[in-house]
Amino acid sequence: MSDLADLTLAEASRGLRAREFTSVELLEAVHRRAAMTEANLHAYLTLDRDGAARAAVAADSAFKAGTDLGPLQGVPVALKDNMVTRGLETTCSSKILSGYEPPYDGTAVSRLRDGGAVIMGKTNLDEFAMGSSTENSAYGPTRNPWDPDRVPGGSSGGSAAAVAAGSAMVAYGSDTGGSIRQPAAMCGIVGLKPTYGLVSRYGLIAFASSLDQIGPLTRRVEDAVAALEVVGGHDPADSTSYPGPVPDYRSGLESGVSGLRVGVVTELNGEGIEPAVQEAVDRTIARLEAAGATIVPVSLPSLEYALSAYYLIAPAECSANLARFDGVRYGLRRLGENVEEMMSNTRAEGFGPEVTRRILLGTYALSAGYYDAFYGQAQRVRTLIIRDFQAAYEQADVLVSPTSPTTAFPVGERTADPLSMYLSDVCTIPSNMSGDPAISVPVGLDGAGLPIGFQVMAPALGEPVMVRVAAEVERLAGFDARARFASSEVQ
Ligand code: GLN
Repeated sequence: MSDLADLTLAEASRGLRAREFTSVELLEAVHRRAAMTEANLHAYLTLDRDGAARAAVAADSAFKAGTDLGPLQGVPVALKDNMVTRGLETTCSSKILSGYEPPYDGTAVSRLRDGGAVIMGKTNLDEFAMGSSTENSAYGPTRNPWDPDRVPGGSSGGSAAAVAAGSAMVAYGSDTGGSIRQPAAMCGIVGLKPTYGLVSRYGLIAFASSLDQIGPLTRRVEDAVAALEVVGGHDPADSTSYPGPVPDYRSGLESGVSGLRVGVVTELNGEGIEPAVQEAVDRTIARLEAAGATIVPVSLPSLEYALSAYYLIAPAECSANLARFDGVRYGLRRLGENVEEMMSNTRAEGFGPEVTRRILLGTYALSAGYYDAFYGQAQRVRTLIIRDFQAAYEQADVLVSPTSPTTAFPVGERTADPLSMYLSDVCTIPSNMSGDPAISVPVGLDGAGLPIGFQVMAPALGEPVMVRVAAEVERLAGFDARARFASSEVQ
C-alpha cells in the first residue's frame, strides 16, 4: 500500500510493531489525507492536532520501551462528537453545546487513551444523534466520500466518512436506531453495534437511554472486533453496563459458516428495498449457502410496528434526557427577564428543528392522559419484538437483511420530509429495540457506484457468531473500498 492512510487497522498494528513506520508517520499520513478531503467532506468538527501529535509521540516511546498497550496503540482514531472528551470541545453538533469543554473523559474515551490510541478529533453528526443523513448538524452537513452530492448516512456520518476516506483509521459512533450501521453501509465500511450494555455509556451524551450503544466503524470485520475489545467490558459508572466478562470475539473469525443456520427475515427483505440492494443481499445469501450455511426464512411479524414504536420511545426518552440543557449548566445561554425566560430563550435558539420536533413529540407522548396510549403501547410493542427475536433465534443462529433499504441518497432529498428520513432506519431499528448486536458489512456497489451494506444480527451477547458470519460475508464479497480512495482522484 503506497499510502499509510489506506491501511486497515490490522495492517497498521502489524506495521507499527514491525517498526516499518512510526505512529508519528502514520498520523502525518492521515492528516495529509484529511487536508485533501476535509474541504469537500467535512467529516470533522474538531481536529485536535496538538493532542494527537502528543499521543503519537507517546505511543512511539511506548513501542520503543517494549510496552504493548493493545491493537489501537499508535493508531489514529476519530470520535463522534457526542462522546465527551476532557478539555476538547464536545458539541453533539448542537448550538446549545457550542464551546462546551467537558471536565472529564467518558469511559470509552479513557479506555482508548489507556490503550495508546491517537485521538485525532471529533466527528460531525446529526444534532444529538437524531437523524439519518448528518444533515441535521448545526455546523453544516458531512458529504459522502463516494459522491459528495450524497449524504454519508447518519447519525454517525462524520465517523463513517472519515474512515471511508482515510482521514481516520478507526472511528467510534453511537447507535440508537442504526446510527453506526446505516452510515457504515452508505460509506462502504464495517459498522458494529454491540449488545446493549457491552460498552459503557458513561460520557456518551444521552439521546434515548434504553437504546443507545457505542460501537466501532472500521474498514474490516477483524478491525471492528479489535476496536470493540478495547472499549468493551463492565464499568461500574454505567448502571446498565453488562457485568459479565467480555466474550472472546476473535477465535471464530476464520471458522466459516459451515453448519450455521442463517435466517432471512421476511419483513426486512424484498418489499420496500431498492432492487440493486436486494440483489446484492440475495447474492450474498446464496454465497453463504454455497459456503455451507443452511438458509432458513424467518418471520418476525411484530417488526411491522418497530419503526412506529421506536419513534415514540426514542423521542420520549430524548425529551427527558435533553431537559438538562437549560442554559444554566452547559454551553449556550440567552438571557431573559427571569430564569424561565432565560431557559426558554436558550432552548429556542440552541436546538435545531429536528431536535425540537422530537422533544415536542416525546413530551406529548409522555404527558398525563396520553402516556398509556402512546409510550405504554410502544413499550408493549417492544416486548412483542423481543419475543419475536427470541423465537427467531430458536430457528437460526444469525438473522440477515439489508442494512439500509437504499444506497446513499442525494443531499437535501429527504430533509423536508421527516417520515421518508425515518424510513431509512427500518432495517436497523429492530436490533436496538431488542438490545441485540448487529453489524453491517459492505458487499458491493449499485449501478451508480454506491456501496451496499449487508446486516448480520445475533442474539444478545452473540457477537462471536455474528462476527464469524460477518467475516465470511466479507471474504465472499471480496469488496475493497480502498480501490476507490487509493486512486489518483484523491492523491
Ligand atoms: N436515524 C435514527 C433517529 O433519527 C437513529 C439515530 C441513531 O441511531 N442515533 O433516531
